[in-house]
Amino acid sequence: MLDVVVIGAGQAGLSAAYHLRRRGLVPGTDFVVLDSNDGPGGAWRHRWPSLTLGAAHGIHDLPGLALGTPDPTEPASSVVARYYGTYEDTFDLQVRRPVTVREVRDARPEEYDGLADVAEPGPRGTPGVGAPALPDAAEQPPLVVVGDDEVWVTRTIINATGTWTRPYWPHYPGRELFRGRQLHTHDFWSVEEFRGQHVVVVGGGASAVQFLLPLAEVATTTWATRRPPVFGERDFDREWGIDVERRVKERTSAGLPTLSVVEATGLPLTPEYQRGIDDGVLVSRGMFTGITADGVVFPAAGTPGTAGEPAQETEIKADAILWATGFRPAVDHLSPLRLREHGGAIATDGVHVPRDPRVYLAGYGSGASTIGATRSGRAAAVAAARAVGDRTAAPT
Ligand code: FAD
Repeated sequence: MLDVVVIGAGQAGLSAAYHLRRRGLVPGTDFVVLDSNDGPGGAWRHRWPSLTLGAAHGIHDLPGLALGTPDPTEPASSVVARYYGTYEDTFDLQVRRPVTVREVRDARPEEYDGLADVAEPGPRGTPGVGAPALPDAAEQPPLVVVGDDEVWVTRTIINATGTWTRPYWPHYPGRELFRGRQLHTHDFWSVEEFRGQHVVVVGGGASAVQFLLPLAEVATTTWATRRPPVFGERDFDREWGIDVERRVKERTSAGLPTLSVVEATGLPLTPEYQRGIDDGVLVSRGMFTGITADGVVFPAAGTPGTAGEPAQETEIKADAILWATGFRPAVDHLSPLRLREHGGAIATDGVHVPRDPRVYLAGYGSGASTIGATRSGRAAAVAAARAVGDRTAAPT
């Protein structure tokens, strides 16, 4: 019987593992960290090579070991993979990989009989937000974490699986008709693949902006966003992280799908982005209403013609549509626990899930940045350690 299973070894999972260890829980004995990747780096491991450390918005230090000042021209994927690898070794976190968690469910009595003194399963159909609190994790039956070919029985889990494995593609009419290439941020590799083409980039977030600028050097582009992009004067600093946390928390505590970080705070108006605006690259055309075999159709701008005839729609021919439309929490493996609210998301109170005291979520909503993931990993570890009986009165 484990005390904690940490699912995911990205920034949130590693921060959680570090803090569990500091609280006296022993890696491999009291807790395990499971990760579906082949090696260290979390989602960063999969990011395209031109996303260098200098081009990223900044990687926050993990607790106890600073990232230092790596070469800003090196791809962030290799910098972060190396950093996380060193981190795992330094603190002997014993990450188990590749292990994909397929489901987490209540343990059946025969799965934990004799393992420890645990309560019999209580009724499910647990209360949601605002309902009376459930018994704490120690009074609940254990959970079973099902991997590819191994299972773990545990009192609690810290779910830190991020969002990278769940790219979000919104539906627009005609998507299946388009004869060009369609890809998501998740699949992007290099602007060279689009040299000489016309690319429609969809989405108002940081990824879209980061694609548009280099694409404009080798291709022509159209930017499509549902809402006008908001550029502000902010840097992606500590204050920004706290601001994100405050704005996103309102939604997550209500079980509503979270806002993306940029929806919550706007884009920072860097000199580079200002140049992009001045050059017309970072200027949105609004959102198209349909997709054809050869491109996308934007609604007519302005008013109908003088004779009352409707204004004309405009078709923009395109070779590729790049959907920079974000990601959703990778939490399908938690479905057996029935944690979702009517709004479709899992309601959280910080890292706590009011529906189930055995489950902590780290790295979502306000935690979806490296600083937020670090902080929520710590909060989840502190809460989980407390739930299973903190081993250290005064952690060092
Ligand atoms: P991840 O890094 O995604 O780690 C989750 C881990 O869980 C992965 O290793 C995954 O393999 C594993 N996993 C998933 N499902 C399972 C499963 N079922 N079983 C086992 N393991 C599983 N933030 C910043 O602060 N600065 C930036 O510059 C920045 N740039 C970004 C650029 C892009 C394009 C994107 C998409 C995001 C960016 N972010 C940035 C956000 C940042 O990457 C994340 O908030 C943070 O790194 C996520 O950490 P995480 O630990 O929550 O998730």
